[in-house]
Amino acid sequence: MTSTAEPTLESLRTRLSGAALIDGDAGYDVARAVWNGEIDRRPAVVVRPAGPADVATALAYAREAGLDVSVRGGGHNFGGAAVVDGGLCLDLSSLDAISVDPDGRTARCGGGVTWARLDAATQEYALAVPGGTVSHTGVGGLTLGGGFGWLTGKHGLSCDNLRSAELVTADGEILRVSASEHPDLFWALRGGGGNFGVVTEFEFRLHPVGPIVHLGLFFYGLDDGVAALGHARELLATLPGDLGVLVAGLNAPPAPFVPGRFHFRPGYAVLIAGFSGEEQHAEAVRAARSGPAPLFEFVSPIPYVELQRMLDEAAPWGILGYERAVYADAFTDEVAEVIAEFLPRKASPTSIVPMFALRGAYTDVADDATAFGGPRRTSLVVNLTSLAADPAAFAADRAWVREFWTALAPFATNPAGYVNFMAEYEADRVRASYGPGKYERLARIKAAYDPRNVFHHNANITPAP
Ligand code: FAD
Repeated sequence: MTSTAEPTLESLRTRLSGAALIDGDAGYDVARAVWNGEIDRRPAVVVRPAGPADVATALAYAREAGLDVSVRGGGHNFGGAAVVDGGLCLDLSSLDAISVDPDGRTARCGGGVTWARLDAATQEYALAVPGGTVSHTGVGGLTLGGGFGWLTGKHGLSCDNLRSAELVTADGEILRVSASEHPDLFWALRGGGGNFGVVTEFEFRLHPVGPIVHLGLFFYGLDDGVAALGHARELLATLPGDLGVLVAGLNAPPAPFVPGRFHFRPGYAVLIAGFSGEEQHAEAVRAARSGPAPLFEFVSPIPYVELQRMLDEAAPWGILGYERAVYADAFTDEVAEVIAEFLPRKASPTSIVPMFALRGAYTDVADDATAFGGPRRTSLVVNLTSLAADPAAFAADRAWVREFWTALAPFATNPAGYVNFMAEYEADRVRASYGPGKYERLARIKAAYDPRNVFHHNANITPAP
């Protein structure tokens, strides 16, 4: 789409139904803020589109004015990909509509919706889309890069549950993308990140979930690291695949379910979320109790929306953040030993090492069915995260993350890790994350839909020549 109007802010504003904000406007500072408090960028203009036509208009304006483009969903990319100094930021928070069809078991949501809002809307019908583990993250970036969380074992990745998307391409075309419409693009959107256009609407499959589900949390001391991780390995090999399992190295929060004497105590949590009834979960809890004695445990039914929010405060808006991750097959002795060696060395009480189990329904999807870069077999994503309010502790733990990653990499199946857990994209890590075959297929699709690489503030796929 091209325009004959001069690329001035006024010409942009007259062409938009939504808003265009510049420095000094009310709302500009909110619109440019992202989750990571380390990022402080000032776009030349932030566009809050009212719909796909506005996105096309903003992209045309950026081209005419020679502005770099960034796309902001929920603003949670650690590297701050959502905002660019001096560029045009498409802030999709204005695309926040949600509609649920309980009979057809589908939901549609705007490209800037957060999981908290989508979960709340779908849980009105005791339905859910598999999302992440922190509810203030955006549906957009999380789904486009893959998306795993509590329901991955039962119903797969977020992207596995995508039915269709409305997408605005770099040159302003508005497309409906699904298995039968632009199937190449539909394949690429499910894991290939924000490389191919701006998704203004997602359509998901829904599953019956909750509203009450089951949680078992077992917390082990720092000295029991190798034993706790060895026990987690046994549990992951034997527990039914539809249970959600997350293992985390962290300080116990000062939460009501944590006995006071263990508040802020560093250690390991094994969390098991059950969606298939009380009996199955009781068996899983029995299995969990058969290992080393935890310092404390918390076993309880819990509303699904609470489970989705449980970790929100562990990673609040505005905290300083840095991360790196690897894919590993299991808690082998070597992996467990490296983790147990490094966890006690973190400086910040809020730095955390969440380890996500990929299993069950996740492994039912063929590797080449989507662009998602992780191995479609039972495996782990080990995420090393520096999180701190204090800049000195943050810097210390950024160095800790890098050293930790270097020590773990020889035992990883893919040290490049998950594209959504990259604070920086150095040394070809994006290509290594997908592997050459998938990356080259993505690069050809990128060349067809975004040959000028307009969408490059992301885990970037370079268009094939
Ligand atoms: P943004 O920073 O807004 O977007 C990141 C990039 O995604 C953008 O640059 C753009 O390229 C693209 N994008 C976003 N929306 C759109 C859209 N509508 N159309 C086109 N492109 C778009 N990941 C998991 O899989 N599981 C988890 O449990 C999990 N937990 C997390 C917890 C925290 C606290 C944080 C910070 C991250 C977590 N992540 C998790 C990683 C998360 O998937 C990525 O940070 C993801 O980028 C967040 O999406 P967003 O829309 O909030 O981010």
